[in-house]
Order: sequence, then structure tokens, then C-alpha cells
Amino acid sequence: MFKKVLIANRGEIAVRIHRSCREMGIATVAVHSVADEHALHVKLATESVCIGNNPPRESYLNIPAILSAAEITNAEAIHPGYGFLAENAKFAEITEKLGFTFIGPTPAHIRLMGDKIEAIRAVKEFGLPTIPGSGGALSEAAEAARICAEIGFPVIIKAAAGGGGRGMKVAHDATQLEHALAMAQNEAQAAFGDNRVYIEKFLQTPRHIEVQVLCDTHGNVSILGERDCSLQRRHQKIIEETPSAALTDAEREPLFTRVAEACRNMGYRGAGTFEFLYENGQFYFIEMNTRLQVEHPVTEMVTGIDIVSEQIRVAAGEKLRYAHETITPRGHSIECRINAEDPVTFTPSPGKIVEYVPPGGPGVRVDSGLFPGAIVPPYYDATVAKLIVHGHTRAECVARLARALEEFVITGIKTNIPLHQKLVATKEFRAGTYTIHSLTHFLETGRFST
Ligand code: ADP
Repeated sequence: MFKKVLIANRGEIAVRIHRSCREMGIATVAVHSVADEHALHVKLATESVCIGNNPPRESYLNIPAILSAAEITNAEAIHPGYGFLAENAKFAEITEKLGFTFIGPTPAHIRLMGDKIEAIRAVKEFGLPTIPGSGGALSEAAEAARICAEIGFPVIIKAAAGGGGRGMKVAHDATQLEHALAMAQNEAQAAFGDNRVYIEKFLQTPRHIEVQVLCDTHGNVSILGERDCSLQRRHQKIIEETPSAALTDAEREPLFTRVAEACRNMGYRGAGTFEFLYENGQFYFIEMNTRLQVEHPVTEMVTGIDIVSEQIRVAAGEKLRYAHETITPRGHSIECRINAEDPVTFTPSPGKIVEYVPPGGPGVRVDSGLFPGAIVPPYYDATVAKLIVHGHTRAECVARLARALEEFVITGIKTNIPLHQKLVATKEFRAGTYTIHSLTHFLETGRFST
């Protein structure tokens, strides 16, 4: 096992990874920008290295600085967390070339799944169902019009290199198509330096269902169940839960079998997530994330498996400790992403934390880098804490969530806790009957669309 791991990230996820490392007796190296000098992930780590200025480009995306930090601290492996360099195949490649272990999948798998057009092509071959669409990159409006005539409106135009909910445009009819295509191409070029886009049928009432996998380098594949991440704003998840209130075992089991087969066919290693939209009893693959997900804790709560520690063991060449057949999820878990933003206007709200009183009690977990006096800089992701609760039943879990949200005190910045409280109180959330469009509808009308 590694003696020292460098954590190439910040905030709650850097703290989360540090915790697993310490439980495994591994020393940690934190890297940080100037603004993060006094951050919790830096305070907790065994050692820390300042890697540059505040813009992500100059610090958390600065590959030479991160690799130099690994070199001077004698770290053996690098955990990228999520975001930043987690899905950068070049970073994984250079890391391994320099003799460090990248705690994640092979660069080839990161590259394959990072190109959504190629990813869809690949999983189709492995027998996973996909959404009707262009199946390849589109360049001309005439070609787009031909495909739309075939699959029907509305359609969604998505960036091949997309991520984080960016670069997607919906066209409801033929008059909107040309403009939506041009907008999507421009946005894709600006955000990802790659203007390739593709078209999919825009589904009206789907749920976002994703499957967590863990694979080792000995051919073992474990499926850790599904997560329902349908509550989203601008295609970004804000509440996630497992199991999904919409699925039966008769529906999830065949899906898990197909996902496991795809992993075996690919020879995948490490943790990964297959994302699907689910509508009228059908699953449609949309993308695969080749990394740890923000919402991984809900899976940990019901399976009792520490996904980060399994990632580290797999990277060290060990066998998975949990065979798929022996994993029996227990109870229900829900996560709320606590963002530093105005709960009504969603304007970012960086600043200095004055009071910080996280909730506790049975079945409550908080993953966060906050403490009284902590600085939330304006340069990075707005998610500053994750509240994760567990209950024996969904009803118990929802009641616990409402109670924990009531206790949670964060002052000095604005957070979306009031929005979570409102959502959790709705009868639709309590009944578990929502789709990916419900939150948008709720924000516009004060009611869920279902
Ligand atoms: P990203 O990588 O940017 O997160 P995804 O392909 O994972 O993009 O899609 C993010 C979200 O966008 C989905 O969870 C869903 O809410 C919405 N979405 C994506 N494709 C479709 C589609 N074909 N129809 C309806 N909504 C979609």
C-alpha cells in the first residue's frame, strides 16, 4: 500500500479523500492556491504545498506545479477527486509516465468517455441502450434538420466534450434548430475548445438514474446500486438519493447486469458512474463519468463501503473486497448539496464564515471544508458542504433530512439551505414523484410539475 498520497483538489472532496487515507495509515499531501492557505484540507493534511495563484489555471489545473509538489514530497500516488484534473487524460498519462500512480481509470478510458460521441458509440457496442439521435458529430443545419425529421422535436444539442451541464441547447421546433445549433457550437468551442456537437431526442419526463461501479485490475466488477439525481437546476444536480423511488428490483437488476457486462468488456478499472435517463420503463445511456462523483456518499451510506478507500486499494493493485453478490444496500440515503449562493437569485456568495454549526445525531453525515473563520473564495465551485442522511425507510430519511436542515447554521455567506428546506417540504418530494424538469418548474411557479 502507498505510504503517501497527494490530493490534487480542494474543499470538501480534498477533506473527504484525506479522511480515507488517514484511516488506511497513509500520509497526505495537500496542494493549495494562495487563497486556500488556511483551508481545512491544508490544515488536516500531513504536508502541504502552495502550487500557485488563485485562478484554477494557475493552481488546481497547473499540471507541472502539481507534479513538482508530488516529486518534492515523495508522494507515490495522486488522487484527483472530482472536477479540475479528474477527467484529464493527459494529466493521468503524465502522472503515470513520471512514475506516480494515478488513482483512477486508465488514460485511454478517461479519453474514451470524455468524448461523449465516442462514449455513446462504445457503450452501444456493449449493448447499452442510448437515446435516438445523430449518433455522431453534426456540422450543418441541413444534416441536423434531416435527423430531427426522423426523431421528431423537441431535441437537445449537446457538446461532445461537454460537462457540468454546459453547452446544451434545446430546440422545440424546426424554426429554433439553426440558431440552437450555432449557439451550441459556439458555446462548445468557447468552453471546451472543441466545437463538435450531437443531437438527441429531448425527453419530457425522465429521471436521471446513474449506476455506481467499482472494478479492480483482476477482472472483478462490483455494482454498488443506483442513484436518482433528477433534482437539477440548469442540468446541475442539487439533491441525490438512493435507492430511486421510481425503480423496482425487476427494473434495476437487468440494468446492473448490462452495466457489469460493459465494465468487463471494457476492462474498466477503479470507480465509475454510468448515467442514464429513465422514462416509461426504459433506460437510455447519456454518459459515463470516469471518477468519484460528488454524490458518492449516499451509496456509501446504504452499502457501508468506503468508495475512496476502494479506489486507493484498486490503484495499489489489490483485489476488490466486496463482490457484487455480497452487497446488500440497507435503507435509504439522501444528499443535499449546500452551495454558497443566494437561495432565490443563485448569485454566488463567497465570503468569510462567521458561525458554522453542522447538524448531527443518528444517520447524519456532513462532508465540508467549512469552519468558523473559513474563507469561501470566489474562484471555485459553489458547493461548500454536503448534507447526507440515512434512514431505514425513505420516509424516515426525509424526516431526518428536514430535521437536519433545520439545525444547520452557516452565517457570513448566503447558502441554498432555505431552498432545500422548501423542496423537502413539498408533497411531491415526500412522495418521490419528480422528474429532471421538476425543479425548474418549481423555481418558476412554486410548484412541481408532476
Ligand atoms: P453533463 O456532462 O454536462 O452533466 P449530461 O449528458 O450528463 O451532461 O446531462 C446532464 C443533464 O442534462 C441530465 O441529467 C438531464 O437532466 C439533461 N439531459 C441530458 N440529455 C438529455 C436529453 N436527451 N433529454 C432531456 N434531458 C437531457
